Formats: sequence, C-alpha cells, structure tokens
Amino acid sequence: MLIKNRTATKAINKRYIYAQDGQLLLSKQGNWLHTDASQMAYADWFPEPLLVAEWAGEDIYLEVIAEHLETPLTPYHGREMMSQLTGSETDLLGRALQLSHWLKDHQYCGRCGHVNKLLQGEYGMGCPACGHKQYPRLSPCIIVAVNGPNGVLLGHNKRFPAGRYSVLAGFVEAGETVEAAVHREVLEEVGISITNLRYIDSQSWSFPHSLMLGFLADYEAGDIKVDNTEIDHADWFQEDNLPDLPPSFSIARQLIELALKKQTKA
Ligand SMILES: [Zn+2]
Repeated sequence: MLIKNRTATKAINKRYIYAQDGQLLLSKQGNWLHTDASQMAYADWFPEPLLVAEWAGEDIYLEVIAEHLETPLTPYHGREMMSQLTGSETDLLGRALQLSHWLKDHQYCGRCGHVNKLLQGEYGMGCPACGHKQYPRLSPCIIVAVNGPNGVLLGHNKRFPAGRYSVLAGFVEAGETVEAAVHREVLEEVGISITNLRYIDSQSWSFPHSLMLGFLADYEAGDIKVDNTEIDHADWFQEDNLPDLPPSFSIARQLIELALKKQTKA
C-alpha cells in the first residue's frame, strides 16, 4: 500500500470502496473493491471520492454513500471483512475505514464550529472561517506481553467475551512517553512492575483510530492484583493451558505467540 499526495495524478487504473452507514457495500459476487465509481449520491458530509492509496498498481478511492439510500448492494461489517483479509489488503481496508470515520467526525471546525472543507491535496480538513486545520486522528496505544517465571501474563478485560484473555493494552496519555505508558498500564491494571522492555512491532487498528505499539517485557516484582475497572481477572499462562485468545491477525496474538516461544526457550 502506497500512501501518496491526494491529488497525485498518474494514469493508472482506479478501483472503489463503497461505504454506507459505517458498513461496506459489497457487489453481488461479494467483492468490496469495485471496478466502477458508484454513481450514487454521497453522504452530506462526504465531499468527493477520496484517494485512499495506491495498491497493487491501482489507485483505490473511497466513496461514502448517502445514509438510508436504497442500493442493490449488500451491507457488510468492515471489521468482519478485515478479519478475513491478510497483509496489505487489511492495511488498505483499514485505512479506508479510518478515513471515513475521520471525515464524518470532522465535518465542523473544533475551534469555531464552522463547516470544514477538505484541504487541497492534503489529508486534512480546514476551516474557511478561522483557518484551523484538523488531520486524521491517531491514538497511540501500547500493548505488551509480559513473561514471568510461571508463563505469559494475560488478562480478561470486562469488554471481552467470557473465557477470552489477551495481553494488556492502554492509551498513551498526553505528555507521556510510550515506554512510561507501558510501565504505568501494567502497574495500573494488574499491580505488576516490569523490566527489560523491548519494542517489537506496530499495527494500525482502525476501530476507530488506534496505532498499536507492541512490546515484550519481563516480570520484575509484585503479585497480580487486578484493577477491576478494565481487567477483572489475570493470570500466568503456558502453552499447555491457554485460554481463548484474540484472532491471529491481531498484534495481540502475535505478541502472545512470541512470548510463548521465549517461555519454551527459557
Ligand atoms: Zn474554525
């Protein structure tokens, strides 16, 4: 996926992603990438077909269709579709969904309330009245797999289905470093202090605009004491007693697998 200037004009083939009411619209054959522009009315807040990225040699555009407009297409949940994709397809669809959320949430200037306009060439919304600019919002979020003497630390978040466990995660606060956020989140959520923090990988998580920053760490001190606001149970798990885990395309799962490998080596 190649993200480029919005007005980049190169004579290459175009394809289109149609979205409506926060869902994708699929063709009769079940495709989410369409060969032609939709020819349908756009949502009030959606100004023009938006270049998402160049992908597989084609320019991919997003079109957001007017809400409640009846179409012969099939609505499909974007997150569900992403779970069925791999690699750069996931990135492309994730970016399209994220851009559509951003446009919808930035129709008005956050400073003076005037109607915003899409900036020329840039991925940004500008206010014609006061000049304030707003860019796609990204929320950095740390996620960390902690290795201890008795396994990998996994927690059950109150929002998870019963039996599902994952590594700990949380948003970076204003003015905070990413590393400090990792230490703080683990201490807050389960009362454990950690050491030997190593950055592993990142993943864009477009629900709606998180940027996941993945770490491995080692247990340093403390007994598990869950905060009961986000995490209601946490424990150390090994390869032979794993609970239900997040899907394999998530960075959470990749960190868990990596931490388990380190356990086997230890
Ligand atoms: Zn303004």
